[in-house]
Amino acid sequence: MIKKLFDRIFRPKLSKAAHAKSEHGRSEHSKTQADRSILGTKKSARKYTHNKDSAAIITYKQHQINRSLLSNAALKTIEGLQKAGFEAYIVGGAVRDLLLNHIPKDFDVATDATPEEVNRIFRRSRIIGRRFRLVHVLFGDETIEVSTFRGHHQAEGDAHITESGRITRDNVFGSLEEDAVRRDFTANALYYDPTSQEVLDFHQGFADIKAGVLRMIGNPETRYAEDPVRMLRVVRLSAKLGLSIDAATMAPIAKMADLLQDVPPSRLFDEMLKLFLSGHAIESVSALREQHLHHGLLPMLDVVLEQPMGERFVMLALKNTDDRIASGKSANPSFLFATLLWHEVLVAWEVYKTEGSHVIPALHMAMSEVIATQAEKLAIHNRYTATMKEIWAMQPRFEQRAGKRPFSLLTHPRYRAGYDFLLLRCESGELPAELGEWWTAFANAEGEARAAMLQADTAPKKRRKRSRKKSDAITES
Ligand code: ATP
Ligand code: MG
Repeated sequence: MIKKLFDRIFRPKLSKAAHAKSEHGRSEHSKTQADRSILGTKKSARKYTHNKDSAAIITYKQHQINRSLLSNAALKTIEGLQKAGFEAYIVGGAVRDLLLNHIPKDFDVATDATPEEVNRIFRRSRIIGRRFRLVHVLFGDETIEVSTFRGHHQAEGDAHITESGRITRDNVFGSLEEDAVRRDFTANALYYDPTSQEVLDFHQGFADIKAGVLRMIGNPETRYAEDPVRMLRVVRLSAKLGLSIDAATMAPIAKMADLLQDVPPSRLFDEMLKLFLSGHAIESVSALREQHLHHGLLPMLDVVLEQPMGERFVMLALKNTDDRIASGKSANPSFLFATLLWHEVLVAWEVYKTEGSHVIPALHMAMSEVIATQAEKLAIHNRYTATMKEIWAMQPRFEQRAGKRPFSLLTHPRYRAGYDFLLLRCESGELPAELGEWWTAFANAEGEARAAMLQADTAPKKRRKRSRKKSDAITES
């Protein structure tokens, strides 16, 4: 009887205390199902899982996030997690973009459920990643990335920090508040609960967004040392979103740029791809140059950008990509990387030719060399390098306008990419504009008109015959 009375009076307080304790470590995740249902079903209890003093609660009236812009998949993921008694929020880029009136391109969810727990809740889900273990939850063709709140990253548990302070593995789970500290910018550390329509803000991210400022959470130097990719992110996100970079966030970049050399090439590739396909490639690359962050990223991109011809070509290619994205078209990464490295190929090609190699073998050697040098810094996926090589290898064929060859080039599966590439070369002044115009007209012409064009542009016969054998033999190998 006394025990029952004791329970009735103290039980709620005890459960709150247990909950508060769980904020500071993994013990949260070993709580029993009974505890969880208390925490999960009582909305008031869930609200106190973070330190309310450090999180401002931004109400719907203030943020005005339009719920209809949320993806259904994200809503279903949150609903599934919350029904199972977990906390779940939309976090990161999506909340930031919504507040800036941009349409988010993807939705990330943060939760206190472990990857295994998330995986058990959603039938169509899988655990991925090593550096960060995450769960991909699939709804139709949409994928929602669900991450468990990260804790402090002492080099203990499943975490690893290098001597320079770089975090190479990070699977220590923690509380919502700890998760917020671990995010890069204040604007990226907002947690939106679509059920309550509240945004939790631990680092004045809402005010920064309203003021148009990108600000690093914590000490910028330490944060860049932990993960040098953040230097690229700050440049990319400010260009993409039109946010200015806070002075203290900007200050250490120039002297820390070299740290990017230690980042694994595959991560750099992913980040650079995002940057080039952000729709704001020109601004991003210009900002990278201002911050001296482009050195060594695409090896010798810095050199290319310093040659007037190379710079013109790269900038035209980026402009072309930005325009495509602005008009809702897709941009092909292979095409883009082919353009970025083309002037490197041209230089190497020239060297091989001067050394006595024939034209086409020299081109192929140059292509392989440029890709190999590149791979040391930025691992361009094989699926892209194959297409890049096809686009490059096609280029000499555009200069042959006689006989049957132009017809066979038109049937090449990558003709369109090769042709677009040719047009950029013409536009940049590398080739006469007339060549691009000829191909445009030739592709559009029909029957006899097409044949007539050929005759008009026949090159001297002797040279053509000789180069035909060699080029065909190599190109088709
Ligand atoms: P984008 O619009 O390009 O997707 P994003 O900010 O959403 O931008 P993501 O790579 O999708 O970028 O990352 C999602 C969230 O994860 C970020 O908003 C941020 O909170 C966190 N994050 C991503 N990368 C880092 C990093 N290097 N360091 C700290 N936090 C990061
Ligand atoms: Mg994102």
